[in-house]
Amino acid sequence: MRKEERNSKKSSATSNKHKQYLEMVTSFLEIEYGLQVVFERDGETALFHERRGIIPGDFIIVNNRVTRQRQLYLLLHEAGHVLLRESEKEHKRRYPAAVVHGSRPTRAHKIDTLREEVMAWEKGREIAADFQIPIDDSVWHSMVTSALYKYLEWSKRA
Ligand SMILES: [Zn+2]
Repeated sequence: MRKEERNSKKSSATSNKHKQYLEMVTSFLEIEYGLQVVFERDGETALFHERRGIIPGDFIIVNNRVTRQRQLYLLLHEAGHVLLRESEKEHKRRYPAAVVHGSRPTRAHKIDTLREEVMAWEKGREIAADFQIPIDDSVWHSMVTSALYKYLEWSKRA
């Protein structure tokens, strides 16, 4: 077997694994929270929610233009947000300024947003551990870095 063939076999096997993990996390969110996960080409990956807590009808969009590994890590991060927002009361206590009322974001809003973003990545990692999903530390770290950097830049501009 040629090297390229071996590589493509290996990558399709890995991709299949990632597909299975994506299905595991997707069914967990659907069963536990009644949350729909939609995979959309060039979609904006995010948790779309009506209110502070999670209610039926809320959903997650995952951009499926990126590799399955990245889709999985993004979904784990969004699932982390779901866990953080499971109890509206607890979320309000931990991140009182995460939800904006006025026009311009306050310092508190920026900091609470950043804190929730950091925690959602950490929670995502815990969910992966619970489901025994192996994580590539260096890919995970680079995704966390670029995601958090965007929020950092936003916090300076806003
Ligand atoms: Zn996030």
